[in-house]
Amino acid sequence: MFKKILIANRGEIALRIIRACKELGIQAVAVYSEADENSLHVRFADDEWCIGPGPAKLSYNKWQNIISTAEIKGIDAIHPGYGFLSEDPDFAQICADCKIKFIGPSPEAMKLAGDKFAAKGAARKAGVPVVPGNTDPIKDLDQAVSVARSIGYPVLLKAAAGGGGRGLRLASSEQGLKDLFPIAQAEAEAAFGDPGIYLEKFINPARHIEVQILADEYGNIVYLGERECSIQRRYQKLIEEAPSPFVNPKLRERLGRAAIAVAREIKYTNAGTVEFIVDKDGNFYFVEINARIQVEHPVTEMVTGIDIVKEQIRIAAGEKLSISQKDVEIRGHAIECRINAEDPKENFKPASGEIVALNIPGGPGIRIDTHIYQGYVVPPYYDSLLAKLIAYGRDRDEAIARMRRALEEFVIEGIPTTIPFHKAAISDERFIRGDIDTGFVDGLMF
Ligand code: ADP
Ligand code: ADP
Ligand code: MG
Repeated sequence: MFKKILIANRGEIALRIIRACKELGIQAVAVYSEADENSLHVRFADDEWCIGPGPAKLSYNKWQNIISTAEIKGIDAIHPGYGFLSEDPDFAQICADCKIKFIGPSPEAMKLAGDKFAAKGAARKAGVPVVPGNTDPIKDLDQAVSVARSIGYPVLLKAAAGGGGRGLRLASSEQGLKDLFPIAQAEAEAAFGDPGIYLEKFINPARHIEVQILADEYGNIVYLGERECSIQRRYQKLIEEAPSPFVNPKLRERLGRAAIAVAREIKYTNAGTVEFIVDKDGNFYFVEINARIQVEHPVTEMVTGIDIVKEQIRIAAGEKLSISQKDVEIRGHAIECRINAEDPKENFKPASGEIVALNIPGGPGIRIDTHIYQGYVVPPYYDSLLAKLIAYGRDRDEAIARMRRALEEFVIEGIPTTIPFHKAAISDERFIRGDIDTGFVDGLMF
């Protein structure tokens, strides 16, 4: 087992990884930017090192500073968390070249997963249904128009290198496609350094349902059930739950097998998520693989009892999976609300500033993953996630009731948050019935 791990991240996920390290008896080294000097991940790590100014490109995304810290501190492995360098195959390769174990898949698997168009090709090869779209790379607008005609409007334009809800454009007509295509290409190049665009039929209504997998370095792969992540705004998740109220045991097994087939096809290792779009008839289509720990992993942990971050570390240390598929049991129900520093009334506009008053909920079935405290100043440079509020219950109704009362207890003053949105969403009749799709937020009053 590793003796010392460097955590190349910040915020709640850095703390989450520190907790896993402590439970495994591993020393945790934090890195931080000048804007994060007073962060909890710095306080709770065993050792820490400043890696540069606030903007991520000068600190958390600057691999040179992270690798130098790794050399100075003599660590065995790097956990990248999510965002930042977590899905950068070049970074994973540099770690390998420096004899540092990267806690995640191999650079080769990550490269395939990170190119969403290539990943779709791999899924097709594995016999897994994919959303209808182009099968050859799109070279120009003429080709885009002819693909769109064959699949029918509306169509989504996607950046092959996109992620985090960015790089997606919806075209409802041929004129829309003609207007958007050059914009989408330029954006993809500017934002991701790769102009690659592909087209997909826009499934509507659609659910986002994803499968958590664990794969060791000896070819053993298990799936830990699914997560329903249909409550989104701007193609980004706000509420996730496990299991999905839509998925029965038969569909669960089919989704799980499909996820494993894609993972095998690209020789995927460590923890990963295979995302699917599911239509109202239960037809599912692969959309992408997230080659990292995901924000919403706790709901799966709550219903399976498996600590996914500890499993990631064990797998990277060369251990075989300690569980087989028949050991995976889904028990009860868990829901996560992402508490973001955003004003839901201003179209979820991000905010920063000091948290002047804070009350954190508790009681039966409540888990909070957060890095905030009273007096904490939310810096303007990073993701707006403040806290993940997770409610567990024996069934979905109990999880909802616990979530509702925990949201009442949660007080954050000084900056706007998504708490009012969550209160409205969790009390909505359609949500309570489990009748949700990715258009839910648009129709909600809050
Ligand atoms: P997903 O929405 O796929 O579940 P998460 O919500 O777990 O992903 O997102 C993890 C974090 O990574 C978010 O902060 C998201 O903004 C960020 N992220 C993921 N991919 C990219 C990318 N290609 N470029 C920028 N940020 C990304
Ligand atoms: P990202 O890498 O940004 O997470 P995804 O390809 O996973 O991009 O898509 C993000 C979200 O966009 C999905 O969760 C879903 O809500 C929506 N979406 C993606 N593809 C489709 C599709 N073909 N039809 C309908 N909605 C889609
Ligand atoms: Mg996605």
